[in-house]
Amino acid sequence: MNMDSIKNDYQAELALVEDAQMLSAFWAKYLGKTGLIQGLMNEIRNIPKEEKKAYGQAVNEVKTWAQGLYDEKKEEIGCKEMAARYEREKVDVTLPAKFTEAGNLHPLTSIKNEMINVFAGMGFDIFEGPEIEDDDHNFTRLNVLKDHPSRDMQDTFWLTEDLLLRTHTSPGQIRVMDAKKPPIKVLVPGKVFRSDSDATHSPMFSQMEGLVVDEHITLCDLQGMLDQFVKALFSDEAKTRLRPSYFPFTEPSVEVDVSCFKCGGKGCSLCKGTGWIEVLGGGIVNNKVLENCNIDSSKYSGLAFGIGIERIAMLKYGINHMGKLFENDIEFLKQFKA
Ligand SMILES: [Zn+2]
Repeated sequence: MNMDSIKNDYQAELALVEDAQMLSAFWAKYLGKTGLIQGLMNEIRNIPKEEKKAYGQAVNEVKTWAQGLYDEKKEEIGCKEMAARYEREKVDVTLPAKFTEAGNLHPLTSIKNEMINVFAGMGFDIFEGPEIEDDDHNFTRLNVLKDHPSRDMQDTFWLTEDLLLRTHTSPGQIRVMDAKKPPIKVLVPGKVFRSDSDATHSPMFSQMEGLVVDEHITLCDLQGMLDQFVKALFSDEAKTRLRPSYFPFTEPSVEVDVSCFKCGGKGCSLCKGTGWIEVLGGGIVNNKVLENCNIDSSKYSGLAFGIGIERIAMLKYGINHMGKLFENDIEFLKQFKA
């Protein structure tokens, strides 16, 4: 094959090379160790002696020329492939981002946690009792006897003649006192059930019971603890007052009011003009209840309180219908994102 036809083929074939793979095959065919241009070099031994020098120079020129064209092509393909890769991997920073929405705690869970934190700081343990209770734990041993009128105060969901959905978290007191001797300092959070439904009542709601049994426990201890509690939950300015009340399991019994955190006590729609908001009930544990749990009432005394968790959430967040807390309306719940 003569030099001119190799040069013609070289140029024509190089023009057809489009990518790195083709370029590598092209290299092997022409410029590799067994390639055509090296072949021209090898031809030198068949050239008459006097023409060898001129022939060698000519082949070298072809080789330099071929290498030059090859280098240009290599550069061109390199740029082309880089551009294609940039195009392929291009990031459009103007595209809308993909959001993964994070959830948040339900307001009742947040309030419950907040309440537990306050009382845990005072040394309370947590106990959770069963939601299905028997008459004995829910009523009788809490001094709510069979014919006691206060049974009518609580519209009970009875399951059998003896079993019921607990109407309060107070049976937790009995279970704790059965299991443990004083000193006792325990919180019993949980769901309770009553046949009752309107804007501020729901057939299911949650309570947090508190029980302290030790020597020399008085109503002052109760007021001190609850005062701390409302200050931590509502505001440092919040004040508490106790009003006499009646529960069969406490004697004396009190309703606890907190000074209105909206108007500061001047009177507004939230506090119905009184300056005070009722938040919970409690009292000194009735000696009969202690004795029902084999605790010596001449040595020990106790205090107990029950807080409606929904009520606290409604007051704190300004929620006007308790049902909102159970509907699981995402738009409503999103408002409580921390
Ligand atoms: Zn007010």
